[in-house]
Amino acid sequence: MRPPVLNPLFAAITSLPGVGPKLAVLYGKLLGRDEPRVIDLLLHMPSGTIDRRARPKLNEVVPGQVVTVSVTVEDHRGPPPNRPRAPYRVVTSDDTGTLTLTFFHAKRDYLEKLLPIGEKRYVSGTAEFYDGMLQMVHPDRVVDEKGFADLPLVEPVYPLTENLNLGHVRKAMDGALSRLPDLPEWQDEAWVSRERFPGFADALRSLHKPAEPHDIAPESPAWTRLAFDEMLAGQLALALMRAQMRRQAGRGTSSEGQLRARILKALPYTLTHSQQQAVNDIVNDLALPQRMLRLVQGDVGSGKTVVALIAAATVIEAGRQAALMAPTEILARQHFATIEPLAKAAGINVALLTGRDRGGERKAILDRLALGEIDLIVGTHALFQDEVLFHDLALAIVDEQHRFGVHQRLALTQKGEAVDVLVLTATPIPRTLVLTFFGDMDLSELREKPPGRQPIDTRTIPLDRVAEVEDAIGRAISEGKRAYWVCPLVEESEKVDLAAAEARYEDLRQRFGAKVDLVHGKMKAADKDAAMGRFASGKSQLLIATTVIEVGVDVPEATIMVIEHAERFGLAQLHQLRGRVGRGAGKSTCLLLYKGPLGETAEARLRILRESEDGFRIAEEDLRLRGEGDVLGTRQSGDPGFHVARLETHGKYLGAARDDAKLMLERDPNLQSERGAALRHLLYLFGKDEAIKLIRAG
Ligand code: ADP
Ligand code: MG
Repeated sequence: MRPPVLNPLFAAITSLPGVGPKLAVLYGKLLGRDEPRVIDLLLHMPSGTIDRRARPKLNEVVPGQVVTVSVTVEDHRGPPPNRPRAPYRVVTSDDTGTLTLTFFHAKRDYLEKLLPIGEKRYVSGTAEFYDGMLQMVHPDRVVDEKGFADLPLVEPVYPLTENLNLGHVRKAMDGALSRLPDLPEWQDEAWVSRERFPGFADALRSLHKPAEPHDIAPESPAWTRLAFDEMLAGQLALALMRAQMRRQAGRGTSSEGQLRARILKALPYTLTHSQQQAVNDIVNDLALPQRMLRLVQGDVGSGKTVVALIAAATVIEAGRQAALMAPTEILARQHFATIEPLAKAAGINVALLTGRDRGGERKAILDRLALGEIDLIVGTHALFQDEVLFHDLALAIVDEQHRFGVHQRLALTQKGEAVDVLVLTATPIPRTLVLTFFGDMDLSELREKPPGRQPIDTRTIPLDRVAEVEDAIGRAISEGKRAYWVCPLVEESEKVDLAAAEARYEDLRQRFGAKVDLVHGKMKAADKDAAMGRFASGKSQLLIATTVIEVGVDVPEATIMVIEHAERFGLAQLHQLRGRVGRGAGKSTCLLLYKGPLGETAEARLRILRESEDGFRIAEEDLRLRGEGDVLGTRQSGDPGFHVARLETHGKYLGAARDDAKLMLERDPNLQSERGAALRHLLYLFGKDEAIKLIRAG
C-alpha cells in the first residue's frame, strides 16, 4: 500500500491549477507518460535559468542570452496597412542605446496597454542583433516597477514541447510544489549531512525556485540529492529482487557432463577459451545449493547460443527442464534452428513456442511440457503466460535481457521452484552500467570472437553515391554473395520506417529481380520467416530490412551490410547491425551510407565504427558521446533509465548507492525500521514500488 502521505503527489496532473485535459495531453508528451501525475512534473528538471539580478545596460547586453533590462518606451510601429502580417514593433531605449521589441500577430490595444509610450518597463527575454539593431522577439516578461518587485530574481527554464509554454509549466509547477508533503528522511543522516544534501522536498523547491543559477546545475547539492535518491531507489529495487531470488535456496543440480560432452562432440568447432570459461562458471553455479543469477555478456557473434545450450544440458541431464526466452519471434526461431540439430544429436527433446502457435499443436506442446516430455523449450514472451506449466523448470535463460522488464524476468522464474537464471546480453555494457541495469549479478564475459573471423572492412560513403553502391551490390550478387540493406531510421516507429524500406525494395527489386527480399516488423510472422528462410538458404541474396534484423539474426554466409542514412542511427545500434556480417569465414564489408553534412557527434560515431570492432570500446565511446547514459536505448521503456540522474555527473555515486542498498537490506531486509519505512516512500516516488511486493510478507 502506498503511504497515504504521498497521495497528493500521485494525483493526476489535471488536479493542478490551469491544467485541463488538453494540456494534460501535452504534459503526457513532455513527461513521457500517458497519464502524467504531479510527481512526474516535479521530477521534470530545469534546463537553465533566467537571472534578473544583473540588469545590464543595453550596450552591455550579450546577444543570445536571456537578459532583463530596464527601458523607456519610445514609439509603437504597427504594421503598414498594406502588410498587415508584418510584425508589430515597439521601440524602447535607455541612456546607452535602443532595443526593438518585436511581436507577431499582435493586438495593438493590448500592446499599447502593456507598453505605454513614455513609461518605464522591465523587459526580459533573449536579445539578438537583427539588421544591425538590438531586438527582442516576444519578450518572456514585460512588467512595471511594481510587477518587477514581485518577480523572482532567478527563474528556471524547462524543456518544453510544442504548444506548451514556460508560463504553463511554471504555473503548474507552483501548484505541484505547494502539494509537497513533509516526508521522512530516507537517506542515511550522516551521509546527508556530510554531503550537505537538502531534504527531498527542499531539493525540489530549490531546483524549481532557485535563489541563484547554480542551484539548478546538475552538480548542485539539490540535483545531486535527487539523483542519488533515484539511484538508491533503483539499487534497492534490484537488491530486493536479488534477495528474493536468493531466498529460496537453490537446488544444487550437478551432472557428470555426459550431455555436455555429446553436444561438444556434435559441434563443428571447439569452444573458445571464454566460452569454456563461461560454461565452467555456469556449471559451478548450478551445482551450488544457491540460486544462480548470472549475466553472460558477449559482443555480437561471440557465440552465446551454444553456451546457453550447454547450460540447459546440465540441468536436463539431472532430469529437469530449461527455458530459453528471446525478445522476438525471429530470434526465437533462429535459436531453435541452431539448437535443434545439436539437441537431437545429444538426445534432448526441444520444442518451440511462440505467440503464433495456436490450437492443437500448441496444446500438444503445453501438455508435453507439463508432463516433462520436453526438456528445453525455446520461445518468446509467450513462455510466461499462465497456461505455460512446467514439470520441473530448473533454468530460465533470457536472451537480450534489456528488452524485457524486471517483472517479466520474475514471471518466468516463478514457473518453477528455485529457478536458476542466466541472462544473455549482446550489448557490451561498460562496467559502471552493468551495475545500474542488472544490479549485483555474477558476470561472465565472452571477450574473444570465435577463431577464423576476419575483420569487417567498414567504409563511409556519402549517400549521393548510392548508385555506385548499387552497382557494387549487383556485382557481389552475381558472384553469389549475400547482402543486407538496412533502411533508414525515419522515426521511432516501424510503421513510418517502412515507407523508406518499401521504396528501396521496389527500386532494387526492379534492378535485381527475385534475388531481392524484404523483411520488416509489420509483416505477418509467417511471411517474415519465409523471407528470412529464403535469405538463409541463399534463395534470395539481398535482404532489404528495417531494423528488425538488429538483434541476433545469424546467417554466416552474409558478408555485406549496407546501412542507409547511417548518421541517423546510434552507435550501439550501428555496431549491432554491423555484427550481422563477419560471422563466417568469408571477408565482410560494411558500407555506411550517410547524408552530409555530418554533425560533430554523427561524424565521431561513424569514425569510431571505422576504427573499431571492439564492442566494449564502442560502448564506452557511445556513453561518452551521449553523455546521458542511455546506452541501452531503454529510456522510454522506463526500466533501467534515469529521469533525474545524469551518469556523467552523478555516475560516481552509483557505487555508494549500491553499497547503501546492500547494507540497508542486510540490516533490515523487510524495510521495517524507521529508515526502512522511509525508504518505502522513496521506492514509490521513483516508480520502483513493484519491488515492495518482493518483501517477504510479515
Ligand atoms: P551471439 O553471441 O551473437 O548470439 P551466436 O551464438 O549466434 O552469437 O554465434 C554466432 C556464430 O558463431 C554462429 O554461427 C555460431 O555457430 C558460431 N560459433 C559460436 N561459437 C563458435 C566457436 N567457438 N567457433 C566457431 N564458431 C562459433
Ligand atoms: Mg544471439
